Amino acid sequence: MTITIALSKGRIFEETLPLLNAAGITALEDPESSRKLILTTNRADVRLIIVRASDVPTYVQYGAADIGVAGKDVLDEHGGTGLYQPLDLNIARCRMMVAVRDDFDYESAVRQGARLRVATKYVQTARAHFAAKGVHVDLIKLYGSMELAPLVGLSDAIVDLVSSGNTLKANHLKAVEHIADISSRLVVNQAALKLKHDAIQPMLDAFALAIKK
Ligand code: ATP
Ligand code: MG
Repeated sequence: MTITIALSKGRIFEETLPLLNAAGITALEDPESSRKLILTTNRADVRLIIVRASDVPTYVQYGAADIGVAGKDVLDEHGGTGLYQPLDLNIARCRMMVAVRDDFDYESAVRQGARLRVATKYVQTARAHFAAKGVHVDLIKLYGSMELAPLVGLSDAIVDLVSSGNTLKANHLKAVEHIADISSRLVVNQAALKLKHDAIQPMLDAFALAIKK
């Protein structure tokens, strides 16, 4: 019986490696240098697949991967259908924020009940946030580089992930609202958890012990 673990390249892969090691799993290839999308590990019964960050929940939902690691940002957008989310891994931490141009008076725009144009990759998250505040928005779906949108007049505001704030600063933007704290979660296919319980449960236990507080 093979266990397939879905990860995305970059910080999630790097920050998940120590947790895998704690469960006795070592990747034998590096996705940054290899073009392979299926990576072997030291364990014949465990393989890693490399997918887009936003595709991780989909692979796990359909059982193409048994386990995955996905940001809460991605899980909120996906909705979480069919996914068991047993652990907050406390990695890839950042914050979902509303940001505007330095010279944009967000407070008074909101106070005056202006209709805001908001560009984001996180349409569901943004819709829920502004609906809860009673702010009317037109959402513009983007796939990346959200910081550009207010600079060229595509939108008044963006909803995006912020960690250091350096990218905002470099583009003359300011964060004006905190929507959520984000970290990556372990997701498990619910059927796989039952059918492959003897293989998966010890991994979950090892991950739980290795999580940094
Ligand atoms: P893709 O490159 O496939 O379009 P992406 O750009 O969303 O996807 P990353 O930027 O690697 O992928 O982000 C992957 C995950 O890492 C995000 O879903 C989020 O949970 C987390 N993340 C994103 N930006 C940061 C950040 N600045 N600091 C910490 N964690 C972050
Ligand atoms: Mg990226």
